[in-house]
Amino acid sequence: MKIAIIGAGFGGMAAAYDLKKAGHDVTIYESANYVGGLASGFKEPHWDWSVEKFYHHWFQTDSEMLGLIKELGWEDQVLFPRPLTVMYHKGKFYPFDSILKMALFPGLGFGLDKIRFGFVGLYLRLTNNWKALEKVTADSWMMKWAGKNVYEKMWKPLLIGKFGPFYRDVNMAWMWARIKARTTRLGTFEGGFQRFADLFAEKLRELGVGIRLGVGVESIKREYPGGHLRQDKLVVRSEGEAQSFDKVLVTTSPNLMAKLSPDLPENYLKGLLELKSMGAVVMILSLKHQLSKEGYYWFNLPKEAGYPMLALVEHTNFVSKEHFDGDHIVYAGDYLEVGHEYFSMSDEELLERFMPAFKKFNPAFERDWVKKVWVYKTNYAQPVPLVNHSKNIPAIETPIEGLYFASMSQVYPWDRGTNFAVEIGRRAARMMIGKQ
Ligand SMILES: Cc1cc2nc3c(=O)[nH]c(=O)nc-3n(C[C@H](O)[C@H](O)[C@H](O)COP(=O)(O)OP(=O)(O)OC[C@H]3O[C@@H](n4cnc5c(N)ncnc54)[C@H](O)[C@@H]3O)c2cc1C
Repeated sequence: MKIAIIGAGFGGMAAAYDLKKAGHDVTIYESANYVGGLASGFKEPHWDWSVEKFYHHWFQTDSEMLGLIKELGWEDQVLFPRPLTVMYHKGKFYPFDSILKMALFPGLGFGLDKIRFGFVGLYLRLTNNWKALEKVTADSWMMKWAGKNVYEKMWKPLLIGKFGPFYRDVNMAWMWARIKARTTRLGTFEGGFQRFADLFAEKLRELGVGIRLGVGVESIKREYPGGHLRQDKLVVRSEGEAQSFDKVLVTTSPNLMAKLSPDLPENYLKGLLELKSMGAVVMILSLKHQLSKEGYYWFNLPKEAGYPMLALVEHTNFVSKEHFDGDHIVYAGDYLEVGHEYFSMSDEELLERFMPAFKKFNPAFERDWVKKVWVYKTNYAQPVPLVNHSKNIPAIETPIEGLYFASMSQVYPWDRGTNFAVEIGRRAARMMIGKQ
């Protein structure tokens, strides 16, 4: 079969790999002039490694991604350090990434609240019954089982940070998936995610996959008699050119999918357009000095404590600054609704907004520590799963024959991640060749 894949993120590339190995003729269309999608990175000329535009790491439970890397023979290039994650309590940060550290965290006292926190965490790690959990909101479930105090100190700030105005509507299966699938050791690829994406693309090209970078697809349609193209093919139009295919897999956001294929039946289109998601704005700074003297990697920041961002992540407390010629790399990021002012602020304005907070991580911080700043924004960063969300997931096989759709919004009950992009990409590939 002649197959087109729209998007060279990890979902699209994983699908291309399996489809090509199964003997098909595969072309990937990618509107950007690089591969890797949301997990792509960039590199300054004096750095050896790339930095992800949006902070990225793997968990040890990411079996789809780690399995693919093993198949490709690159498992010796995966690193799993154990960086430090900290929680905020009354102006200070406390390590929070092991049972012992959690037991010592003063934010929940040392009585019943801590026990409830422990039991709820244990229950969620052990249960597999997410279908029952998706029927209620995380807000009401946590309030009931973890209790007001634990919920308000630990879980509510996370929900508010990730989902803003929708935080009360998110279902409990999302929280379950998050607790279930996370580990304290965090992984990356030698050279960064972009190097991995480039190696993968190179491998695909060697196998014979065509990767067309910088080609944005404008529409995907079945052409009708009278047209110059054969009627039994799907036609992919891009920048003044049309190509026909037997099957097409789209890996973009649901909104874009709806725009690319307006001939989809109303029900399917409505399903795509009703899915909610949050965007993200992330600033990356290269600094002359280390920000967290304690060597902390990930700071969880409650909005109510007045921080202008949700997370501060010191990348070079995860991977060595030697890979960046001694530069210290720090992310400051937030999940936001697309109309939020951060989307329209200039990099300079955003820096002014974020900078006062840096002194809270290190009182010695000064503006002249900042060597360079980059800002990345995306409208589609985090799907918002509402109650009974499993009923609202668009099918991978769309009602248009031969047209398939696999996105972050369909990996539910799991939270989005490159691991699940690989999983859904490969699942879509199996469906396309009738193996599932
Ligand atoms: C802030 C943030 C932090 C994250 N942290 C992590 C993490 O720590 N670990 C982790 O594993 N995952 C993380 N993720 C999630 C991860 O990036 C995604 O789940 C994954 O990259 C999705 O891959 P994908 O192939 O489904 O989609 P994408 O990567 O979005 O790929 C889709 C591709 O389609 C292309 N495209 C769009 N429109 C067109 C068009 N018209 N024509 C041609 N091409 C088009 C896009 O340019 C893009 O390359 C994070 C995401 C964000 C936003």
